[in-house]
Formats: sequence, structure tokens, C-alpha cells
Amino acid sequence: MPIYEYACQDCGREFETLVRGGQMPHCPACASTALDKKLSVFATGADATAPAPPMAMPCGSCGHPDGPRSCALH
Ligand SMILES: [Zn+2]
Repeated sequence: MPIYEYACQDCGREFETLVRGGQMPHCPACASTALDKKLSVFATGADATAPAPPMAMPCGSCGHPDGPRSCALH
């Protein structure tokens, strides 16, 4: 059973709740159903752990040692 994180649009309360099929979650503080569904905590921050892209080769494709646009073709 997934747990979803919501932020109440009316009072700003943030909370997590189990959402069963067909049920509308509501704010535990003001009972509003105007909620923003937030991303899972586990889904956020994935970009921070992604490996950095490798350094670009000189000249982009031909590997000329003097750098981009140093060779005849690029
Ligand atoms: Zn609320």
C-alpha cells in the first residue's frame, strides 16, 4: 500500500497518508480536500546521485588536441 505525501492548499499543512482506492484524502488539520500531491521522498534527490557526464573530448568528435574547431573538419 503506497504512502503519498500531500501539502494542504488551504492551511499549508504537509502530511503523509495511505490512499486506498476510491478514497479522497483530506487534510488532518482543516479537513480540506484541496491538496497538492507531492513527489515521493524516495523519488526526489535522484539527480544528485547521478554520475557526472564524462569530459567532452577535444574537438567534440575527432579528438584534435588543440581543442574545438582546431582541425579542418570542425
Ligand atoms: Zn489544511
